[in-house]
Amino acid sequence: MKNLFEHTSSAWVRYSCYEYRKSGNILYITPTEDSSPILYDPLNDYESLVLDALNLGRLAARADRADQLQSEVLEFVQKYGLLGFMPALPTTPDFMEYEQVYLPKNHFIREEVMQTEDYLRLFFPFDSPDVVKRGVQSRWNISDDKSMMALAMALADRPMSVNLCCQRQYSERYDWILQVLQDWAFTFLTSFLYYLDEKRMDDLSRELFQKGMSAFGGSAPTYHIELRERPTMVWDFHSLLLQVQMLFSIMLTDQASPMRCCPSCGKVFVAENRNDELCPECRLR
Ligand SMILES: [Zn+2]
Repeated sequence: MKNLFEHTSSAWVRYSCYEYRKSGNILYITPTEDSSPILYDPLNDYESLVLDALNLGRLAARADRADQLQSEVLEFVQKYGLLGFMPALPTTPDFMEYEQVYLPKNHFIREEVMQTEDYLRLFFPFDSPDVVKRGVQSRWNISDDKSMMALAMALADRPMSVNLCCQRQYSERYDWILQVLQDWAFTFLTSFLYYLDEKRMDDLSRELFQKGMSAFGGSAPTYHIELRERPTMVWDFHSLLLQVQMLFSIMLTDQASPMRCCPSCGKVFVAENRNDELCPECRLR
């Protein structure tokens, strides 16, 4: 895994503190006003990131745990940052360089084309960044908050949409976050149960499982080549969403250390040995 993604621009931003905030009837998660940004690389501990996301998705699928769910989602965001829907959903994270935003089919926005201002407003419901759009040109006047300026400088080589979604005013809808976490958990369970029951399954169920699985995937990270000491492939992960999806796909297809669902506690874990059925905690007990 490390070799495959040896060179990446995968740094992501999380803030020291987040809160729930409502705009109309919609519940958002957003950094608190006095929070400070922290740059980190999600690839460093990608296994925990993916497992945390899957276990949270499992919890999200249970209707009886709404309160616990809200606090655990906030904890997840506190640990890893918001998912970066804004650069992840359109056909390109460079959408600021086009006149409009183009959206492939997704679970969140029905429109295929949106005006850039309208699209930005979905992610800045409380306080909009000072962006002026004229045709394909975009101009962004960064607020005079010093930490936001420093952050924008640190991310200057990334697309403007990535930079914008790392700013403090950027917010994401709670129901969207839940949906994506549930989608990942569903994909994992589909694959896990398929191989658990494959031999006992009739053709119809087998086909249903395969269909369920084929809905997953789609957008992959892009890459570019840099002329370093030798030509080097550099992967561009422009959102945490895309990173989790890609890393999860790699873990899901890893034969040597498969992901399992513990039959005793229901947790998703990575089996160190192929024969491990129980998660490490349950095995200790
Ligand atoms: Zn367990």
